[in-house]
Amino acid sequence: MNAIGAVDIGGTKVAVGIVNEDGRLISRMEAPSRSVEVYSDGARLITDMLRQSTQATGQAIVGIGIGATGPVNPFTGRFGDLDFLPQWSGESLVDDLERDFRVPVALENDADAAALAEAGWGAGRSKSRLIYVTVGTGIGGGIILDGRLYRGVDGAHPEIGHQVIDTGGPLCSCGLNGCWEALAAGPAMVRWMESQPEYFSSEELTAKRICELAYVGNALALRAIEREIFYLGIGLANLVNVFTPDALILSGSVMKSADLFLNGIRKVMRQGCRFVPLEKVKLTLASLGEDANLIGAARAWHERFAHGEKHVFQ
Ligand SMILES: [Zn+2]
Repeated sequence: MNAIGAVDIGGTKVAVGIVNEDGRLISRMEAPSRSVEVYSDGARLITDMLRQSTQATGQAIVGIGIGATGPVNPFTGRFGDLDFLPQWSGESLVDDLERDFRVPVALENDADAAALAEAGWGAGRSKSRLIYVTVGTGIGGGIILDGRLYRGVDGAHPEIGHQVIDTGGPLCSCGLNGCWEALAAGPAMVRWMESQPEYFSSEELTAKRICELAYVGNALALRAIEREIFYLGIGLANLVNVFTPDALILSGSVMKSADLFLNGIRKVMRQGCRFVPLEKVKLTLASLGEDANLIGAARAWHERFAHGEKHVFQ
């Protein structure tokens, strides 16, 4: 039995789990991210939670994978500037956990980790080229090419959410206008609907609420869905035209209402992908659900140390 410890560091919570060799999460604990603003407190809490998890499951762990939202350096194991945990910048949880548990530890961007998990244990099994896309408060993803996580220069994580779709579109956090994320992430759906002259409501609008309104036939919400379908379809068509992958795997909170979007997205993609074999590209939903980030953290470890990605680092 080769269980892997998993740590997921996100904007709202820090979660810890144990993942078995089949990619199943067998234990889970979490704490709010705001409770670990000081790095040393966070490292201690994560170590404690991992120890409790191994004791509760009776599993010895062969390694630990860490997935984190935001910039990380998978080569050095150090965090970049995490805007939700600024005091963690430059720290190495990899070093601390290796010292405490005496097992190898891997750090990965959480979208890359989830892409690895879907490729190894989820909807992308048997697909050697796949792109994982998560649509929620932003748009991010991970790219697997020929069975391996694609890393850019200096190990950089590609930012598929910042492909520009419409130069006349809204200003994005990156400084450009009309990025995919600025047009089609959940908050962009909300901004568009609230900006329409016929919109009137005192309730707080969310992407989830827009989808609920669309299900009951609200005309403006249905237009918001049509708009979302168009922009998601264009962004995905771009990815297919550039990479011609075997599969696109969709995830994230907006995709919880995927049945509103999928047929329309396929139609937009058919219009935009005429010179590549789109019919062979599988468009599918992620299969690992809410636990994808923890399972991904474990898979990132598995990829690095069980699959021997190490040589890529030299
Ligand atoms: Zn941008």
